[in-house]
Amino acid sequence: MTQLQAARKGLITPEMIRVAIRENVTPEFIRDQVAAGRIIIPANVRHLAGSGGQKPGSGLPAVRSGSTTGDACGPSNAAGATRYCELPAGHPGFTPDSALWVNQTIAQRRVWLDDPEYCRGQRAPRRLDPLGIGRAITTKINANQGASPVSSDTRQELEKLRVAILYGADTVMDLSTGGNLDECRQALIDHSVVPVGTVPIYSMIIGRSIEDLTYDDILREIEHQAQQGVDFFTIHAGILKEHLGLIGKRICGLVSRGGSLLAKWMIHHNRQNPMYELFDEISAIMREYDVAYSLGDGVRPGCLADASDPAQLAELHVLGELVQRARAAGVQVMVEGPGHIPLNEVAWNMETQRAACDDAPFYVLGPLVTDVFPGYDHITSAIGACEAARAGAAMLCYVTPKEHVGLPRLEDVKAGCIAYKIAAHAGDIARGIRGARRWDDDLSKARAALNWPKHFELAFDGETARALHDEDLPVDTDFCAMCGHDWCSMRISKEIEQFASGKAEAFQPPRVATRAPELTAEQREFLRRRAAARVGAESARPPCHSENIPDAEAARKVQAEYLRQHAPGA
Ligand code: SF4
Repeated sequence: MTQLQAARKGLITPEMIRVAIRENVTPEFIRDQVAAGRIIIPANVRHLAGSGGQKPGSGLPAVRSGSTTGDACGPSNAAGATRYCELPAGHPGFTPDSALWVNQTIAQRRVWLDDPEYCRGQRAPRRLDPLGIGRAITTKINANQGASPVSSDTRQELEKLRVAILYGADTVMDLSTGGNLDECRQALIDHSVVPVGTVPIYSMIIGRSIEDLTYDDILREIEHQAQQGVDFFTIHAGILKEHLGLIGKRICGLVSRGGSLLAKWMIHHNRQNPMYELFDEISAIMREYDVAYSLGDGVRPGCLADASDPAQLAELHVLGELVQRARAAGVQVMVEGPGHIPLNEVAWNMETQRAACDDAPFYVLGPLVTDVFPGYDHITSAIGACEAARAGAAMLCYVTPKEHVGLPRLEDVKAGCIAYKIAAHAGDIARGIRGARRWDDDLSKARAALNWPKHFELAFDGETARALHDEDLPVDTDFCAMCGHDWCSMRISKEIEQFASGKAEAFQPPRVATRAPELTAEQREFLRRRAAARVGAESARPPCHSENIPDAEAARKVQAEYLRQHAPGA
């Protein structure tokens, strides 16, 4: 029975309980939203059990899921094989009303990710920790990864998986198009505590041209990946033969890989999209393993000029029809969205999807709100993603700085995840998710109190923030290197008696000035790389830096000499 079928029967599954804890809502709320199709819990039964692609064994011992705060466990599922943590988690110092799983910092995430007991699988090193996707709960982010024919391998993909989860990914998609696809996919599922999605058509055309693809090939590959434990499939069933005539005048044509491949197949065979024709058979396979649909937007716009055009909207209405067919088959479903959209059209797109797809969760790629910043598209798209989240998108698919220009590396995965955590959290605040802003208010109190350790403990990426602070002033005191002591408005506000600023009792630093704690090797490496990247500067800190000269008088002399040597024309 799928989560959707269980919810419709009024049942509350252990997975619904786990999602309710992560979202700080009641299990009944989750059940009702799942029953209505407004929340999905992508959770393949094999990934849930950590079965390593095998049939879950009913006689295997129970496994437990740890947490940042303890190891108490909830009820087991029907097979008696999985149990989920019942303790809530949130940002450091969270309260009962602000316990939101997505609001954990990197340091908190590192604790459970490094715990070998956390979500230990039956046969795989890890199993799935169930999560929900829907506009009534916190916004999720997805990280795409995968080997290409020219770059990457399974080991590197596992490293990317770890970095993606560490930096906030709630789901990952394996978009491999090269290397050993089967091995890479199984390895990712076996090491992932977050849902794993794929685009099965990629594997269907390995070793054959798209024109040779048969209906049997399609169903066989979908069943194979479902057996491996994939939690959601992107199926481009919405692009129809009738839509192809609307593409001709576009600047960028079809930018979805799946969409363009299927268009070529339809033109070659002069037949309808096989994914559309096989939709009910595909649904039957997915129902057996409780794989969720992510209905692909094969006609998504690939530039601002193509946004919100008749082709995109024609596909959207077919996706609306497919939502109903998937639900009727008992299969959970979300819908993918654009792409490249001008900022002023983002909210309209969210509303239009909501109406066309009967409130199915919307999973958007970006969208990018301008086309002229390749190399920075994690930023151009995070702006659109933030607006999409505010307007009701349920999940944001990250874009990395390598978008349009190459395959993301580890540092691109990190940059993409962080950009999208920002977008998702800002969206949660704007959408009024209960308790989301408490995290911000706590950090602001620590900042106003000039309590640097607490400031960095509460920051999502406190490790980077601490390194940047210490780069110029490795002392925790009542100002920082930005303005200096005399110009520090935070310090001045804190001193003004009639202001509340900086006076929250629980946020006071223990002392006014302490030497900052030693930086970690990673933080030192981060600063070393920044120093090396400075245009026209040495690869290390200048000799007058406080780290090199402990005494202020000596520092002034060294600095004067340094400036004399580096003066223009010297
Ligand atoms: S010195 Fe400036 S930037 Fe630094 S804490 Fe004070 S007001 Fe903020």
